[in-house]
Amino acid sequence: MSTVVAIDGPAGAGKSTVARMVADCLNYAYINTGSLYRALAYAAMTSGVAFDKITPDFLARQQLEFRGADLYLNGQKLDAELRRAECAKGASIISAIPFVRDYLLPVQRNAANGQWIVMEGRDIGTVIFPDAEKKFFVTASAEERARRRLAQAGEVADGATFESILADIKARDERDMNRAIAPLKKADDALLVDTTGIAIEDVVAVIAAYCR
Ligand code: C5P
Repeated sequence: MSTVVAIDGPAGAGKSTVARMVADCLNYAYINTGSLYRALAYAAMTSGVAFDKITPDFLARQQLEFRGADLYLNGQKLDAELRRAECAKGASIISAIPFVRDYLLPVQRNAANGQWIVMEGRDIGTVIFPDAEKKFFVTASAEERARRRLAQAGEVADGATFESILADIKARDERDMNRAIAPLKKADDALLVDTTGIAIEDVVAVIAAYCR
């Protein structure tokens, strides 16, 4: 039996940083589930398959595996590749495909693997681990998220501006919140954490305190 801390929320809310720091603080394992969707987007891009043309056969040929917090696709460790803007966009598109979500559900449950774990994503508290011991929904205003994204090198496409990033974030929110399956939403029993204008360290301290 795993002890799961579920951290969900929209793109750019500081979730990954918060989740990783909470895991360190509590000495729990850490899994970022967005990286699975990004890895499949990367697989599609490198195989010349359009995001909306992914098939179950294509998925069956991909081998995804977490070794600790590191994600391997077909034996290759993925890291910086996954942070590219195209991967983020592709992940958001393919994550709306029902058989993609079905394929990744057991991958995420198995990744918990009986550990004490912080798992972050969009539907961890609602679908993947509805019985998670602790659930948080971490968010921030779209403008604040765009500002933070702009400050993160590597995450933004060349020539991106505050306005173009804000438009991307809003488009991604729209897709994530309105898809038919496992849409992004706060679980009823999740604690809402609005990080707008709040230092990351303070957010981490509050979440870690709740977990303890
Ligand atoms: O968290 P991250 O930005 O890396 O996620 C990339 C995309 O993957 C999200 O925009 C979302 O569409 C999708 N995702 C999801 N469910 C998760 C994690 C990510 O649908 N649990």
